[in-house]
Amino acid sequence: MADLPDWPERYQSDLTDAEFDTLAVRAGQMRTPEGEHGEAIFPTSSYVFSSAAEAAATFGGDRDGNVYSRYTNPTVRTFEERLAALEGGEACAATASGMSAIYALCIAHLQAGDHMICSRAVFGSTTVLLEKFLRKFDVDITYVDLLDLSAWKEAVQENTKLLFLESPSNPLTEVADLRAISEIARSAGALFAVDNCFCTPAAQLPLALGADLVVHSATKYIDGQGRCLGGAVIGSHELIEPVIGVLRSAGPTMSPFNAWVFLKGLETLSLRMRAHSDNALVLAEWLKEHPKVAKVNYCGLPDHPQYELAKSQQRLFGGVLSFEVAGGREEAWRVVDATRMISITANLGDTKTTITHPGTTTHGRLTDEQREEAGISQALLRISVGLESVEDIKRDLARGLDAL
Ligand SMILES: *Cc1c(COP(=O)(O)O)cnc(C)c1O
Repeated sequence: MADLPDWPERYQSDLTDAEFDTLAVRAGQMRTPEGEHGEAIFPTSSYVFSSAAEAAATFGGDRDGNVYSRYTNPTVRTFEERLAALEGGEACAATASGMSAIYALCIAHLQAGDHMICSRAVFGSTTVLLEKFLRKFDVDITYVDLLDLSAWKEAVQENTKLLFLESPSNPLTEVADLRAISEIARSAGALFAVDNCFCTPAAQLPLALGADLVVHSATKYIDGQGRCLGGAVIGSHELIEPVIGVLRSAGPTMSPFNAWVFLKGLETLSLRMRAHSDNALVLAEWLKEHPKVAKVNYCGLPDHPQYELAKSQQRLFGGVLSFEVAGGREEAWRVVDATRMISITANLGDTKTTITHPGTTTHGRLTDEQREEAGISQALLRISVGLESVEDIKRDLARGLDAL
């Protein structure tokens, strides 16, 4: 940054070999002449120059420096550098929301006549974006079962340019073999993008497993307290440059205030993800033993079908689980309605535990056949396990289950 002072060597810490928890706290920080310890927020739309010549040089790219906050903003850049460091990527583009990250990625890397392969089990708005808008621009999409490697292989066409998935899936916590799918993408000459929202880099590093791009809804665990919307795309300079191009022209960039909130989120991400995962495992084990529970989906349970795979590619199992109550929609709703503390909301990745009935909320738009194909029964409930005492979470759910 040309406009910041040269701090003494004492503060020019070299983070090249630093570990994750250190990067989460320190990567990307730059100090102003005020010497602030915490990261500064720069709530400014534009920047001034000392002369007409300096303005011309900055606009022309001959001089480093900020021009306008749709292009660059120091707080946003700090967030981008820190998240890129945590994901092990060269570059990061911060966005206004998770959906604008996925939008920018698709617009940057696909064009009319291209084909993409997408897991059937992706976030609902992702499917809407692809079906309602991307198709309008003549991008063809094939949906495949997340776990079916031969389906991924068979879906490849000459014009396939992008493979896209989330793992573990929502709400069933199915785990995709990221190494194997990255091989399929590579042989197809296509890019492989992973929505890493459920794991965050504290639990999974898709780039190290062969993905080319990672997308985030920072709205979830990266903030972790349900305050702000934001997103990001991470990858090589070469792949992120076109994404930045889309963002600068179309405009869904991250606000400096949100970037600052997310920076604070990143500093505690490791600790929080560990605590979310610990609570989720205790709750999953307890639910498994409960007589009114028919089935528990959590990739941290040793009898989960992809437990070994999850262990081999994730550092933590994450904070989201789902379970089926004995019965159907009526029983599932009764459990939801009998809780008194857990928030009834489809949001996730929050310090506060949330509960939702996917069949009538997040997956309510699907037809009965689509839901059945996706394995989402009316007896299914999804929990995003928060950071309250797990004993209190259990007690609240027990109220619901005891009502059956
Ligand atoms: C919430 C979510 C998104 C969309 O993010 P927004 O910040 O709400 O736009 C994308 N992917 C996954 C997996 C999500 O949970």
